[in-house]
Amino acid sequence: MEFNVFEYFKGYKRTTPGPMTPEEQGTSYFLAGHMGERISEHVDVYAAKAGLSRRNFLGTASGFAAAMLAVNEITGMKFFDVTKAEAADPAAAKEIKVARKPGADFIVDAHTHICWRKDGYIPGVNTSERGMWFVQLLDDLGKAMGLPNGTKDMTVENFGKLILEGSDTSVAIFNPFGFREDYGGKDMIPIEEQAEVKQRWPDRTVMLGGGLTPNQGLRETLDRMQMFVETYKISGLKLYTFDSTPQRGWWFDDQKKAYPMWEKARKLGIKNIGCHKGIPFGQFMARYAHAEDFDAVCDDFPDLNFIAYHSGWPYHAELAALKGFKPQRKNMYCEVGSTFAATVTSRPLECAHVLGTLLRDLGPDYVMWGTDSALWGNPQWQIDAFRKFQIPEQLVEGHGYPQLTTEIKAKVFGQNAARIWNLKSTASAPPAETPRIVAV
Ligand SMILES: [Zn+2]
Repeated sequence: MEFNVFEYFKGYKRTTPGPMTPEEQGTSYFLAGHMGERISEHVDVYAAKAGLSRRNFLGTASGFAAAMLAVNEITGMKFFDVTKAEAADPAAAKEIKVARKPGADFIVDAHTHICWRKDGYIPGVNTSERGMWFVQLLDDLGKAMGLPNGTKDMTVENFGKLILEGSDTSVAIFNPFGFREDYGGKDMIPIEEQAEVKQRWPDRTVMLGGGLTPNQGLRETLDRMQMFVETYKISGLKLYTFDSTPQRGWWFDDQKKAYPMWEKARKLGIKNIGCHKGIPFGQFMARYAHAEDFDAVCDDFPDLNFIAYHSGWPYHAELAALKGFKPQRKNMYCEVGSTFAATVTSRPLECAHVLGTLLRDLGPDYVMWGTDSALWGNPQWQIDAFRKFQIPEQLVEGHGYPQLTTEIKAKVFGQNAARIWNLKSTASAPPAETPRIVAV
């Protein structure tokens, strides 16, 4: 049976009483994966060393460290930079966390969402059967991530609570959902509802426009783009090359359908153009999730930046080759939303290969951090996991991947996004000791 990376989180269960910590959330995902039983045995040993019950231990920074250490021990590769002292002694783990200096990391989450609209998604009324496939996927994911009501909890309010207040994220770039053919002729999240995020947190958010496909009519698409810029002051686009029109999709390098859009973007001063690549979900055709159209469009519009969201995973090698063999390119970017989260706890070797391939071939200046939250609830466990994640020495030697140094992590976490979106990297994350709101 095909292993569904999003389904596997369904095994996730609350393990401790009281408020959920990011550590508990992260630890639980390690335990829910296919290495779960073996990780569990290791974690129990460290809980005993710490003199804590298993239940209480899992919610500490040591529990999370112990799960990571267990992965290192089980696989025989150093995926996580954790020590035995951290895993055995909650006080030591806390000390390491606080010594990290709150605010030292400038974190731009290039990939965030709300996923709710005021009239909801009602099957047969304003949402097609196929449209419900995607809503259901997000509903299940949200519920596994601490949002009891799934998509109904992915609101503007909770965007603030979970991402801006509840994590070390400094700036969140929020992405739209269109797909109006499946949602009663209205964008899955209409731009006027999305704009509330920007209105509430103008200094800590960047708003992208979306829901554009030339298959809805080129004239209308160009007009909407102009309206997004004039009325909503968008800072870029996040588009999808698959759609639910009869054509089912389009390509960024289509000279008739797409090039007028890039010419228009250029005139309107829009420089950053993202596209969902990889993760072929729900009602959409996988072929349009391949990144081959970035090849021509990157060369033909060198003054625009093209960003492959999800990094094209699991087709990331195709994307990487478009820069690996064409090193002259300076306008092809990727971000790791959902890709990192779906692999880091249960497929660490795959996670290391994906990050290694992207960093080696696209280069450390072109890979950006993203979490796809609030679809994944609070992003803090992902941030903590990336801080600890390493590309094991065997892969550095055997594949020529760069090591995940502090400098490279700082570029990925925020500097690359700050450069292309002109963000001041002075914003400081809330102190790490602040209690995190993980569940709503
Ligand atoms: Zn997304």
